[in-house]
Amino acid sequence: MSVNATYLEKLNPQQRRAVEHGTEGMGQGRGRPLLVIAGAGSGKTNTLAHRVAHLMVGGADPRRILLLTFSRRAAAEMARRVQRISSHVMGQDARMMTHALTWAGTFHGIGARLLRDYALGIGLDPAFSIHDREDSADLINLVRHELGFSKTASRFPAKGTCLSIYSRCVNAEMAIEEVLRTSFPWCAGWAAELRQLFAAYVEAKQRQNVLDYDDLLLYWAQMTAEPSIAAELGGRFDHVLVDEYQDTNRLQSSILLALKPDGHGLTVVGDDAQSIYSFRAATVRNILDFPSHFSPPSEIITLDQNYRSSQPILAAANAVIELASERFTKNLWSERSSAEKPQLVAVPNEAEQAQYVVECVLQNRESGIVLKQQAVLFRTSSHSGPLEVELIRRNIPFVKFGGLKFLDAAHIKDVLALLRFVQNPRDRVAGFRLMHLLPGVGPSSAQRVLDLMAKAPDPVTALLEAPAPPRAGDDWRSFVETIEQLRAGMVGWPAELERVRTWYEPHLERIHEDASARRADLVQLEQIAGGYPSRERFLTELTLDPPDATSDQAGVPLLDEDYLILSTIHSAKGQEWKSVFVLNAVDGCIPSDLGTGTTAEIEEERRLLYVAMTRAKDNLHLMVPQRFFTHQQSATGDRHVYAARTRFIPSALLKFFERVSWPVAASDSDVTRSLNNDVRIDIGARMRGMWR
Ligand code: ATP
Ligand code: MG
Repeated sequence: MSVNATYLEKLNPQQRRAVEHGTEGMGQGRGRPLLVIAGAGSGKTNTLAHRVAHLMVGGADPRRILLLTFSRRAAAEMARRVQRISSHVMGQDARMMTHALTWAGTFHGIGARLLRDYALGIGLDPAFSIHDREDSADLINLVRHELGFSKTASRFPAKGTCLSIYSRCVNAEMAIEEVLRTSFPWCAGWAAELRQLFAAYVEAKQRQNVLDYDDLLLYWAQMTAEPSIAAELGGRFDHVLVDEYQDTNRLQSSILLALKPDGHGLTVVGDDAQSIYSFRAATVRNILDFPSHFSPPSEIITLDQNYRSSQPILAAANAVIELASERFTKNLWSERSSAEKPQLVAVPNEAEQAQYVVECVLQNRESGIVLKQQAVLFRTSSHSGPLEVELIRRNIPFVKFGGLKFLDAAHIKDVLALLRFVQNPRDRVAGFRLMHLLPGVGPSSAQRVLDLMAKAPDPVTALLEAPAPPRAGDDWRSFVETIEQLRAGMVGWPAELERVRTWYEPHLERIHEDASARRADLVQLEQIAGGYPSRERFLTELTLDPPDATSDQAGVPLLDEDYLILSTIHSAKGQEWKSVFVLNAVDGCIPSDLGTGTTAEIEEERRLLYVAMTRAKDNLHLMVPQRFFTHQQSATGDRHVYAARTRFIPSALLKFFERVSWPVAASDSDVTRSLNNDVRIDIGARMRGMWR
């Protein structure tokens, strides 16, 4: 390709090989399948962005590029990088070209869009609605009641567990018995009932024309099994590129192989040492087995220089992952020298952990590291509770990724349920939720109306004609009228959200004490809705990738505001910050005590710690509270337990860290268990006074 591609000069030789792979001749990069497998921070995502830009610069049609990322945020970030890179060569056109990169997103998001296009071909109604995990669990629950399992068998697995088992069967393409044996041994006696439940659940979804998350992949895979659709789908994209390939599951890999059976134009990148989603049936085999699917085999490129982290941080992370039992990628090296080792900080408990972190964050900010360049990571969303309290108390804005979503709040779910019910009046979970809001409408009245609707050829007419439940009165009328108006398109998008709010207002006042704060959320939701072209797109995209909660509870903060990042380690994947704090680096948290304790699970937790550590560029703190709160009750009934430093940092690795103990107070018996007392810092003297 003879373009003045100065952006190539910034890449190292292996990265450049990956970017130019297949573009050397006349073609546009549809060479052999390409696998880039390399450790954290070695520039995999960056290389992928360069490759997309390079393909576009070479004349590839951006509308025919399919780019699959781990989150919608990652897709947007990738598009930004592509634009920046290609603008060096294409100037103003880069913007337009990148804008045409419309097929960039998650497997689920892209699946939903393709399904709307091809639904009829596989006997699916294109007006389907999508259930999030909570809705899916609610539907399983309804079905369970209908089958009578919850009554006759009091110890039948909970709805969430049923959904997890179902989901695992689908995503891992495994039989129920196998899934129960390997992952849910305590449910092994229920195989027959679960089989019956799942069959009824699948049937209910079909009847109601709803898809759950797993269906988006399952139906996509089914589409690719239909030869005529498969050919059309495969021909639709010249290039298919996948980031974070180590966290895809069997179903996702079969979809890719069906799209590109010979692998031409297929690029996947990933790191086996960062595989952390096996609980969602992701399998590291996908990346390790990738080359063997093709003949001639795929091109494999490995990268070994880390551009992200300082050398001491990288050395510590390497040491942790070195102890893993199985691993393909090799250790990385970094040119970013620094005298600062990562810190291992012993604190008495989680409250003081929160104070310590806040103090450091503020000090960092004073020394020029803005809040956005700092992140606090944790194993489980609930672990950040004490920290959130401290941040709110001290007015430090933050955004939390991977925790409670904006959309999880009851009032938002109510409003969305109405939109969903308008979109798809056969959606029973939405119907139940709404009728439950109306005073005087009990479960049996609701069921009666929903049954009438289910049997009728036109459910909305059936709703309008159904006799109002005797004690419901005006509330029923207002509900039915709202549905009728919206369904008839009398209000229009996005104005209809305001109409929904008017309908919901009396219920909001009645149900919630903090109605005014919740009303503000609804106004916020209207603003978010304004950014979507239609109700259907709004519902689909919000369900698949909802906005995260923020400290002011008002959706996503303004872009130019500075805020601290709080994130589960899982959601921190692929990202980087100058300063990173990892909470609760103790046994029981990392590794978590919630798993079955198999070797495979423990190994995954080690990789999780590796992912967390490798997010840091310049400084890294691993926090070790000496006591912490656990969900496992101890023999004495206490949920606060003494903790020990995570087993992934055995004594032999301590040399990679600087050890800190805080605060140093001989009278506090908790602290006597601290790691060591050789380094003292006293940033907490002032804070301790406030705390006690
Ligand atoms: P992860 O495994 O965590 O997803 P990654 O391999 O995708 O990491 P990137 O996020 O692409 O790594 O890159 C890490 C950092 O290194 C980024 O800040 C990126 O800009 C920088 N980087 C990558 N390649 C180079 C290079 N050749 N020269 C300078 N900086 C680079
Ligand atoms: Mg990456």
